[in-house]
Amino acid sequence: MTQPDTELRVSKIENGTVIDHVTAGEALRVLAILGIDGTEGETVSVGINVPSDRLGRKDVVKVEGMELSQDEVDVLSLIAPDATINIIREYEVIEKSRVDRPESVVGVLTCPNTNCITNAGEPVNTHFDVLDTGVQCRYCETIIRENITDHIET
Ligand SMILES: [Zn+2]
Repeated sequence: MTQPDTELRVSKIENGTVIDHVTAGEALRVLAILGIDGTEGETVSVGINVPSDRLGRKDVVKVEGMELSQDEVDVLSLIAPDATINIIREYEVIEKSRVDRPESVVGVLTCPNTNCITNAGEPVNTHFDVLDTGVQCRYCETIIRENITDHIET
């Protein structure tokens, strides 16, 4: 067996999350979704265009000391539909799951339509239905087709 050891490309982590099988080239957008820019002092390892049996090329993101919320996983699935989430505790994978494309995402994205009720200061959570071609605001029916991550609530 002379399988290349891709695991050596990014260091192991003690506690945290490994997001594997990210669509090649999307790792930096994944970091943006998770709000990670390094200023919090968290240890982050990123592999970009790593050889993958399943995908040809993939990205890998490892974040020390952080577990993802379901909302974050839902948005992640929009740009990295093949991703697997590995929760690590004491260097062991204690949970491994594939992301699921959600039917809708709530309270994660902002609507680009300034006249939308979700932008009117009302206590309304944004609610987007996930389509094959993008996501659609349930209130004003505006569709976001590209750069979905630019619309993540901050
Ligand atoms: Zn809207």
